Amino acid sequence: MLTCSRFRELGQHKLVLRRASPACVAVRAGAWCDDARRFLVRCAQAGNTEASYLLGMILFYCFENRKLGSELLGAAARRGHAEALYSMAIIQFNGSGLPKDGRNLHAGAQLCVRAASRGHNDALRELGHCVSDGYGVRRSLSGGRRLLIQANFRELCSAVATGGPGFAAALGLSGECKPPGPHMCLLSDYGCHVAGSAGRRAHAANAFLAEWYASRQLGSGAGAGALRLCSQPTCGRPETRKHEFRRCSVCSAVIYCSRACQALHWKVAHKNECVPMAHWLDAANANANANGNAVAAVEAAAAQMAMP
Ligand SMILES: [Zn+2]
Ligand SMILES: [Zn+2]
Ligand SMILES: [Zn+2]
Repeated sequence: MLTCSRFRELGQHKLVLRRASPACVAVRAGAWCDDARRFLVRCAQAGNTEASYLLGMILFYCFENRKLGSELLGAAARRGHAEALYSMAIIQFNGSGLPKDGRNLHAGAQLCVRAASRGHNDALRELGHCVSDGYGVRRSLSGGRRLLIQANFRELCSAVATGGPGFAAALGLSGECKPPGPHMCLLSDYGCHVAGSAGRRAHAANAFLAEWYASRQLGSGAGAGALRLCSQPTCGRPETRKHEFRRCSVCSAVIYCSRACQALHWKVAHKNECVPMAHWLDAANANANANGNAVAAVEAAAAQMAMP
C-alpha cells in the first residue's frame, strides 16, 4: 500500500531526485530558504545536472562562493549540460571571481565550442565573434561570419518552429526592421530582428539571479558599490569586480557579460536607446554655453536620455 510516509520516502529516493525535471528543480529567488537549498543539494548529489547547474549559479553569483559554485557548474558541464558549459565560458572570458588577469580566453572559447555543439545558440554566436576577432582562438573573418550566419539561421528555424513574432520580423513583414537600405537580416551580426530571440524565456538560473538582485545590493566588501548587473535584463549576472563587463562602445552607458547578451539586448531594446556619447556631450555643451551652468546641463542631458 502506498501510504503517505512511503510516498514521502519514495519522493526522496535518489532515483526520483536524479530524474526530477528542470521545472521541478526551478527554485525561485523569492522562495529561497534552507529547505530549498537542501532540496537542490540533495538533487545535485543524486546526479541531477539541472539542480547542480542552478545551485552552482546561485552559490557562485548570489553567495559569492566561487569555489563550490564552480565545482557544481563543472559537474553539470562534465555531464554535457549546455547551459553550464556556456556559463562557465562567460566566467572564463570575464575572469569572474578573479583579478582581471585571471581571464582565460582560450578556455572560454573551448567551452563555447562544446556548448555550441550541444545546440546552445548563444554559445555559437559568442564563438562567431571570438573567431571574427581572434579572441581566444585563431582569427578568421570568414569563419566567424559563417558561425554568426549559422546562429542567425538557428534562431530563424526556432522561430519558424514556434511560430513566434520573430519569424515575421526576420522576413521584414512586421515593419519592426527599418534599416536605412536593403539588407539581409540573416547576414546581420546582430543589428536586426533576427527571429526567435525576443520572445524566448530565460533559463531558471537567470530568472533566479535577476529576481535575487532586483531587491539586493550587488557584492559585498570594499568597492561593491561600483558593481553593476548585465544590462540585458533577463540575464541577471552581476559583475564580480569593478569594470568586469564589456561596455557598449557607442554610448558607454550599458554593460554586458557577453556578446550574446549584447546582441539580444540590441535587438529588443538598445538599438532604439543607444545614443553616441559625443552627441549628448555636444548637447550638454550647447546648453552649458547657453546658460553657463555646465554641471546642470550635463545632468539635464543625461536625464533626457533616460540612461540606465
Ligand atoms: Zn533587418
Ligand atoms: Zn548577460
Ligand atoms: Zn549603446
